[in-house]
Amino acid sequence: MPIFFSYDILILMKIISANWKMNLTPSQTKEYLQGFLPLVEDIKDREILLCPPFTSLCVASEILKGTHIKLGAQNCHYEPKGAFTGEISLEMLKELGVSYIIVGHSERRWIFGETDELISKKITACLEAGVRPILCVGERLEEREAGLTFKVVETQVRLALSGVESYTDDLDIAYEPVWAIGTGNPATPEDAQVVHAYIKDLLQDVNPKHEGRTRVLYGGSVNPKNAGEFMRMRDVDGLLVGGASLDPESFYQIVKSF
Ligand code: PEP
Repeated sequence: MPIFFSYDILILMKIISANWKMNLTPSQTKEYLQGFLPLVEDIKDREILLCPPFTSLCVASEILKGTHIKLGAQNCHYEPKGAFTGEISLEMLKELGVSYIIVGHSERRWIFGETDELISKKITACLEAGVRPILCVGERLEEREAGLTFKVVETQVRLALSGVESYTDDLDIAYEPVWAIGTGNPATPEDAQVVHAYIKDLLQDVNPKHEGRTRVLYGGSVNPKNAGEFMRMRDVDGLLVGGASLDPESFYQIVKSF
């Protein structure tokens, strides 16, 4: 009896990411990692990513050297260097071992006024620098209530990728409904699944040669209790976690929730 294997199913490594936002000083980062690293020492079948604030990257980079834990940044500038007071370049981040950049987080869009055009420049710069961007997209409450979720997500994805459409496999996307971030009111796993599947179809449309290597993460009030339910969804390839990642034990519970 012949055995048939299907080779056209791509198995993606799941990714669980911590976005610490503007929390944890360098000394608190050191303390966090002393507690967290022993907990995740043997968890190597999924990617674990920490995105501390800029000021903690140096200490985190030193401590994470030689471990399987990845380091990411929460933002970057798109120019390589120059008169951009207060900004941080990709070269600076790469030297610290940063391999992921969160781009277009809703707090940057809605508090700091980042436009789709700016986000697109950052995505292009990350791709050129060989750093994998995690593009954040998601609708606001009023947009959801007006039935615009898919339209908003489509526009954000298309504009962010304009000019770099053929690189869809070189980034990950976090679907983070704005109304779910930091509110304790997550999307349902089923609602997230529908949007994630839509994003994957959209990538195929943006780039007909897309190979399906883009992971779609869910973010918005993930906690140790609900993480496993999201990860059970077919098209949820990872999580982007804010508040619940600030405590090493809580983030560990999320990392091992599936
Ligand atoms: C985030 O900052 O990306 C996020 C999802 O935050 P929280 O988990 O706190 O909702």
